[in-house]
Amino acid sequence: PAVPELEALQYADVAALLPEPGAESDKYRRGVVGIAAGSATYPGAAVLAVAGALRGGAGAVRYSGPAGDEVLARFPETLVHAGPPSAAGRVQAWVVGPGIGEDAARVADVLAQDVPVLVDADGLRLADPQVLRSRTAPTVLTPHAGEAAALLGVPREEVESARLASVRRLAAEFSATVLLKGSTTLVAPADGGPVRANPTGTSWLATAGSGDVLSGLSGALLAAGLSGVDAASVGAYLHGLAGRRAASGAPASAQDVAAAIPEVWRDVRGEA
Ligand code: AMP
Ligand code: MG
Repeated sequence: PAVPELEALQYADVAALLPEPGAESDKYRRGVVGIAAGSATYPGAAVLAVAGALRGGAGAVRYSGPAGDEVLARFPETLVHAGPPSAAGRVQAWVVGPGIGEDAARVADVLAQDVPVLVDADGLRLADPQVLRSRTAPTVLTPHAGEAAALLGVPREEVESARLASVRRLAAEFSATVLLKGSTTLVAPADGGPVRANPTGTSWLATAGSGDVLSGLSGALLAAGLSGVDAASVGAYLHGLAGRRAASGAPASAQDVAAAIPEVWRDVRGEA
């Protein structure tokens, strides 16, 4: 049979993929997420990515970057390291890029590690394409249309008018799972399989910092052991539901979206 071009995750699919701690779990086995994000100019991006990772079930979050004070003020449970990410201790997955500014060295340090990495925001601009292509551990890229256009070297309108072809092309060019954000978020697996369209979401998510929460949330799922395509698509699904829950027809901030993740997790899990 022909391979379907598009598929949508259903409630029950997501429920079955949600990681759940068991009697033998400890914080390390649940998944330690590294967050390399934030800068003097954008410390908030680090805080929001950490928020997404903690609400997304990380056993622990290690933070590497200059916004440690801001992160700790909001989330004292975070393990903060001011040095390079590779010196921060073991993690099961990294999230790199939100608000990282011009810190290309921090991005390169993360990409050199042999663990799954989710690259977002400034990280997409700073990553060396050759290094991205040559990674052997899973890589997940989470661009919005403008970031996708820059990666492909085409005008933004070209991505907007051909979203399915664009996300596929990115996945093939970078041998990575690619999550293309937008009103309908698309997730293309690295191997050319069917693209998943996210059925949740709300235009209230078009608010500053909302993408940073998604990167932390999907990073936590990656650290818990989900594949790149499952972590990205379950992340988008929960993020969309959390946006709806937080907003329910009125504005919500990115922090509100992060805070709503456990509520929608509970709802989805109830269906399992
Ligand atoms: P970013 O552009 O990185 O801040 O991420 C924005 C987040 O909001 C992504 O998860 C998008 O999918 C989501 N988003 C943006 N605009 C819309 C929209 N019109 N409808 C639904 N979701 C949206
Ligand atoms: Mg963003």
